[in-house]
Amino acid sequence: MDRELLEQTLADLGQPPYRARQVWERACAGAASYEEMTSLPKELRTQLTDRVPFSTLSPLQRREARDGTVKLLFQTADGHPVESVLMRYRDGRRSVCISTQSGCPLQCAFCASGQMGFKRNLSAWEIVEQALFFLREIGSAEGSHSGSEVTAESEPEPGERLSNAALMGMGEPLMNYEAVLTAVRALPDLGIGHRHTAISTAGWAPGIDRLTTEDLPVRLALSLHAPDDELRRRLMPVTARFPIAEVLAACKRFYDVRRRKVLVEYLMLAGVNDHREQARALVRLLNPKIFKLNLIPYNETGDGRGAFSGSSRPAIDAFREVLAKAGLEATVRVARGREIEAACGQLAGTAGTAGRT
Ligand code: SAH
Repeated sequence: MDRELLEQTLADLGQPPYRARQVWERACAGAASYEEMTSLPKELRTQLTDRVPFSTLSPLQRREARDGTVKLLFQTADGHPVESVLMRYRDGRRSVCISTQSGCPLQCAFCASGQMGFKRNLSAWEIVEQALFFLREIGSAEGSHSGSEVTAESEPEPGERLSNAALMGMGEPLMNYEAVLTAVRALPDLGIGHRHTAISTAGWAPGIDRLTTEDLPVRLALSLHAPDDELRRRLMPVTARFPIAEVLAACKRFYDVRRRKVLVEYLMLAGVNDHREQARALVRLLNPKIFKLNLIPYNETGDGRGAFSGSSRPAIDAFREVLAKAGLEATVRVARGREIEAACGQLAGTAGTAGRT
């Protein structure tokens, strides 16, 4: 629901100022339509249904993996794909991975979103609506449960609620800055605090500097994937515009002001960036006071290009060992939802809605 449109519409209808907040709170409590908001006058519910779309995203496909990971593929009102993932962790965390653009302009060589081309920026409310879908699926910020049409299969566990958000779905968040920030500022209403919100960037340096100036304790994540500019340019063309040194300097400024460690994401690609020498190069590059690493097993995108394959587990462990010896903290990301192609861009790519460019 577009909150600006909601506020404007309620004002036009001569409604009292508290109404907009009331409607939004009901949505964050898990209402799936205006009709369900029985605390509103009946006539108003009908007026809102006619004038302010409750959601502009239509779910097209839902897949659930054995580990409880749920992937939703949506379509925007103008027909573009958007995908989002819910990850359920054993420690109780419920993390949503949400998209900030449909497709992506950055064209990273290994990523399915880039291969689909760039459609458009998502609005703030299209970003928030992805999380609201999952909130309805697993329970509200208030802990009450209510189903929605696309839920069906899995029953929510008692007391299940969203806890974390990662702006790590399709798109480059820092190239859609205003909408992303508006969305992030709305997430606490869904029970997701800023400290539990991570914004992941391919290294859009001016966006990192801008984020540094915001009074928001969000986590910054940087997709690095290579320790030198030459290799990184091949994997991530954005490097030609913002070289590694420039991006890391922006991350350091972020750390100096915000005092939160930057999470460096590093995809493990067999024979490409997983040599011990490259681990040593990372050690020279990354100050352990500022950065911690997350090694990511590669999800093969399965589009027949076969350009990359994921590093073996022993190769990942050996790489990690070099980092650990040098005091650089590194965790290995647990691959979730692999059988449902939960990696970036994969579902839209296989569902054939993407309309490749
Ligand atoms: N543009 C932002 C956020 C979206 S990508 C960024 O680059 O950080 C989110 C993460 O998923 C990035 O680290 C990206 O490199 C990674 N990723 C993309 N394709 C992947 C794949 N097939 N397997 C595993 N991770 C992938």
